[in-house]
Order: sequence, then C-alpha cells, then structure tokens
Amino acid sequence: MTTGAVPADESPEVLLTRLVAPHADAWDRAGAIPDEVVRALAAAGVLCAEVPGKWGGLGLDPLAHGRLTAHAGTLCASVRSLMTSQAMVAWALTRWGDAEQRERFLPRLATGATAAVAFSEAGAGSDLGAMRTTVVDQGATVRVDGAKVWTTGGTYADLVLVFGRHGDGTAMVLVPTDTPGLTVTRRPDPSGCRAAGHADLRFDGVVLDRSHLLPGAGAPLSFVGQSVLAAGRLSIAWGCLGMIRSCLREAVRHARVREQFGQPLYRHQLVARHLGETRAAEQSLLRLCEHASRSWSEGVPEMFDAALVAKHVGATAAASAASAAAQVLASAGARDGHPVARALRDAKLMEIIEGSNEICQLQLAEQAMGVYA
Ligand SMILES: Cc1cc2nc3c(=O)[nH]c(=O)nc-3n(C[C@H](O)[C@H](O)[C@H](O)COP(=O)(O)OP(=O)(O)OC[C@H]3O[C@@H](n4cnc5c(N)ncnc54)[C@H](O)[C@@H]3O)c2cc1C
Repeated sequence: MTTGAVPADESPEVLLTRLVAPHADAWDRAGAIPDEVVRALAAAGVLCAEVPGKWGGLGLDPLAHGRLTAHAGTLCASVRSLMTSQAMVAWALTRWGDAEQRERFLPRLATGATAAVAFSEAGAGSDLGAMRTTVVDQGATVRVDGAKVWTTGGTYADLVLVFGRHGDGTAMVLVPTDTPGLTVTRRPDPSGCRAAGHADLRFDGVVLDRSHLLPGAGAPLSFVGQSVLAAGRLSIAWGCLGMIRSCLREAVRHARVREQFGQPLYRHQLVARHLGETRAAEQSLLRLCEHASRSWSEGVPEMFDAALVAKHVGATAAASAASAAAQVLASAGARDGHPVARALRDAKLMEIIEGSNEICQLQLAEQAMGVYA
C-alpha cells in the first residue's frame, strides 16, 4: 500500500482511520504493519502525541491523548500497542531525561523515529527485580549486557529504552537499534496484537556514549520502573476502552439485523444483557480513564494509582466485552480476520501485560491497605 502525503490539516484521528482501519485485519494475519505506515504515523507525531509543540510534537494533553489512544484501540490493537510503547519512552524522557536528552531525542520521536521499551527477560516477567541485564557506568561510556524478551515494537524501533541493573538499583539507557552488539530477533506468531512487532533483544557488550544513560541511575526499580509502567497502564486502559467500543459496535450491528425465533437477537433478553453489561463497562471505564488522565494533567500523587485502577478494570472489561461480543455474533464472528475474533485474542493479552491481573490485584490490595488500614 502507499500512504500518500499526509495533508497538513488532517487530524490525528482522521489519519489513523485512513491509514489503519481498512488494513488492520490484513496486518493482523500477516503479522506486520508495512514500514511506510509505521513511518507515516511516527512522522505525524501520532505515536507519542503528548510531546509538546516546542519539540515538534502534537502537544496533546493526557485527556486528548487518551481519546486518541482509544480511537486507535477501536481500529487496531497492534497500532495502539506501538503508541503505548513510544508514549512510554517519550514520557520517561520527559520525566527522567536531562535537558540535553530531551532536546536530542524528543524531536526525533515526535517526527519520525520509533521507540520501544524493554523490561522483561526470560527469568523476569512479573518479578522484574530478577532482571539480569546490566548497565555498567564506564565513565565516558556505558556498557549494556543481557537479553530482553517480548519487546513490543522491537522490530520497528530505532531506539529502545532498556532497563537494567545498576549497582543496587536500576538504570534506564536509550539504545539505538543499530548499535553494534545489539541483536533484534522477531518473536514469531504471537497469539494477539500480532502485528505489533514483538522482538527479543540481545545485548553483547553494547557500548554507548554516557549521554544515552538517563539520570537517576541506581534508583530503586520500584521508583523508576513503576512510573514508566504507569504511563503504559494509562495508555492501555484507553486502548481497552477502544476495544470495548469496537466489540459493542459489532455486537449491536449484528443483534439488530440477525433474527432468530421471529425477532432480532437484541429483543431476546439474554442477548440484550450482553449488550447492556458491555455498555455499562464502556461507560464506567470511560470515567476511570478520564479521571486518571486528569490526575496526570494535574500531576497529583494519586496519578499512578488512578492509572493502575483504570488498567486493571479496562483489561478485565475488554476481555469480557470481547467474549460477550463473540457470544452475540456466534458463527458470524467465528472466523479469523473478524474484528471480534481479533479482539478476543488481543484483549486477553491486556490481562497479562503491564502488570498481569494478579500483579495489579496485589498492588490494588496494597492501595486498599494504605487507604483503609
Ligand atoms: C503481547 C505482549 C507484549 C509485551 N510487551 C512487552 C514490552 O513491550 N516490553 C517488555 O518489557 N515486556 C513486554 N511483555 C512481557 C510482559 O510484560 C510479561 O509477559 C508480563 O510481565 C508477565 O510476565 P510473564 O509472561 O513472564 O509471566 P509470569 O511472571 O511467569 O507469570 C505467570 C502467571 O503467574 C502469575 N504470577 C506471577 N507472580 C505472581 C504472584 N506473585 N502472585 C500471583 N500471581 C503471580 C502471573 O500473573 C501470571 O498469571 C509483553 C508480553 C506480551 C504477551
């Protein structure tokens, strides 16, 4: 396909709809998004739309950014995944980077470069404290050794934000993917978000100028890592809202026209219940996402907790909504390439990533203990 020139007055929503909507199913089956589409989205600033205008970004506030992410979520979970990863990197640079790093990298991310985040390792999934990748400060340079798994967007990325051990704490280092010693291997046939470019990364004596090391090296993982994960959680919550909307739209359209026992499906109360419950989930998640985004705009201490609640509720609601829509569609949705079949697979993964359901539940229990003990 050709993306064509992006008209200057085309809104990010319209751009996403034009470039993504007609092709999402085909990309899912092919397991890849054409490079020129990823580049066009990156060049338009859509992959990290909160980057301020002074760095060439779209400068959306967290609420507008969330709405854009939800729109992407209605179209394609793989594209939305790329938005989440790149937004996490941009957020980490904005929050943790020094002035020179922001000047150097944010304009690139806002105008065409692509980025991914690498926390997870073969032995460190839920337990990120078990990470073995090391970031060693060598004075003028830093050296990275280790291996990461499941890096979303890894096959498309120009830059990877890598988390590693640094003394007793953690360090974040921004590694260009063409650095000698870094090997990127595509992870074949993921069960969902199939076109999101998941990759495993190996770092064999990767040496970088020290300017790639973000400040705060040596800080506890719980402090640095959780803040970046929280930015991803907020994005995923909005993406789940989009997935729910897409499932609801497909279920409603089908329930209006498909007749059984002499009436449209939606007139059967057990079918209507699926639609009603999904609508309630969509409306309540919208409020949670809006509340979380407003907390991020205000920068209040509860912002991380609000993102956690929205992500956990969103992931479970998206998985339920996809299951309900598949039930309403029955055989009509039971084919590869149907948006609901895609959502079933994609939504399940939202219960695993960025803190699995169980890890979110544990953190929510800590929240509860803090509030009510
Ligand atoms: C589609 C996809 C995209 C991803 N993208 C990225 C990415 O961009 N960057 C990145 O760094 N990583 C990424 N990951 C990795 C992801 O973050 C991990 O899969 C996730 O953290 C879970 O780790 P795990 O798969 O090793 O499961 P495990 O940690 O082995 O957990 C297995 C099961 O045990 C449960 N469990 C574990 N510990 C506990 C506990 N203490 N109490 C209760 N239950 C527990 C878990 O909830 C889960 O149900 C991605 C993964 C997927 C599938």
